Amino acid sequence: MHNVELLNRIRTPWLATLSQSLASAEGVRASFYLQLERFFDLLSQSIETGDPAMLAPVLDEWAAARPESDLEKLETSLSPLLSQILLLTYDVVRDKLNPEHALALLGSILPIYAYSLQHTITQETQLHVNYVSADLENARISLERLDKSKSDFISVAAHELKTPLTLIEGYASMLREILPTDTEKPALFLKGINNGTRRLHEIIDDMIDVSMIDNDLLSLHYQPLWLNRLLSIIQAELAESISSREQNLEIRPFPGSEELTFGDAERLYQALKNVISNAIKYTPDGGIVVVDGRRLPGFVEITISDSGIGIDPEDQARIFEKFGRLGNISLHSSGKTKFKGGGPGLGLPIAKGIFEAHGGTIWVESAGHDEQNCPGSTFHILLPVRSEPPDDKTAKLYRSMTKMKTTQVEYYSHNSENK
Ligand code: ADP
Repeated sequence: MHNVELLNRIRTPWLATLSQSLASAEGVRASFYLQLERFFDLLSQSIETGDPAMLAPVLDEWAAARPESDLEKLETSLSPLLSQILLLTYDVVRDKLNPEHALALLGSILPIYAYSLQHTITQETQLHVNYVSADLENARISLERLDKSKSDFISVAAHELKTPLTLIEGYASMLREILPTDTEKPALFLKGINNGTRRLHEIIDDMIDVSMIDNDLLSLHYQPLWLNRLLSIIQAELAESISSREQNLEIRPFPGSEELTFGDAERLYQALKNVISNAIKYTPDGGIVVVDGRRLPGFVEITISDSGIGIDPEDQARIFEKFGRLGNISLHSSGKTKFKGGGPGLGLPIAKGIFEAHGGTIWVESAGHDEQNCPGSTFHILLPVRSEPPDDKTAKLYRSMTKMKTTQVEYYSHNSENK
């Protein structure tokens, strides 16, 4: 007897048994019965044609109709269902057919079930992958939105802070003019106000810089420069901090440092100073900071090594993100070069933004964070050596960056006024 005929002989008990066993509630049973009928007919066509893929449409529909909760829990409900169908089919076949017929029918059904099971597992996995990818994409979009609001908040806050700060500075300077110069206390108070407003100015400028970098608005003014001269200026500027911390800042002459190159001297000075100030800040009193480097084809590499507290490998990428300061954030900022002085966590993102805008990069190497043994850190900076300002293509890129909204132009002009 043909296997299709054998299958048709078990149709009624098969449908009755499977709908009874698989659909628990009465209401669901009626619609499930129709689904099982369709499954059975396709199974029959599959045996007739010898094509195991005949069942694929109904399996795909079942896979797509699975509840969202299954996807959320990443559960595979369809492949267990298919295994149950196979077991129940085996029971019905054994019950309703003689052993010879049963063996013949199962022999033709099994390869179709094996194919269906594999197809279902692939489908379910694909659905899970799609679900997780959509979830990740949503998370990425909300993170992007959050980052944008953070960046917008920083620039608005910075500009709002700037106006009252300018007023305080103005009134403080008027007070300085009218107060008698020989009295000690007013002079001391005025010095305090002056230090406070200067530090606030630096923080606000950093906030504006970081928001310009975030919004691709940092435009560079290329001019000829020598790295060794920039480094000497920084050394002179930091001399007081270095001696108050009894540290040693050694700036070695290295191949490429005396070579003429093109870059934005003011911005490179700012970026290098941020990294060197950090080296001083995160190194205990009496420590050493060494600036060295080497010439590479097309680039110069500057290394800034310190004998400080070091940075754990898992934090080495985070410190270049804005507000990526490590440790206890409740400790307030206590100065630019005081040991572990803390700060708003903007120095390195700004330095990174400036080096990258030059076509360079920055990264750090450190064995880990250890305040007792001080393993130290080495910051590597790679900068292109240019014999002339960037070519037309790059200049065009910068020009396109200056096509900004009015408010953004305002940010830039405010900021450059204060440089
Ligand atoms: P901050 O204002 O906190 O100094 P930065 O962006 O300059 O912000 O640095 C981010 C964080 O990276 C710091 O809070 C500090 O934890 C870590 N860091 C930076 N430079 C060093 C260094 N040379 N040694 C150890 N840690 C460092």
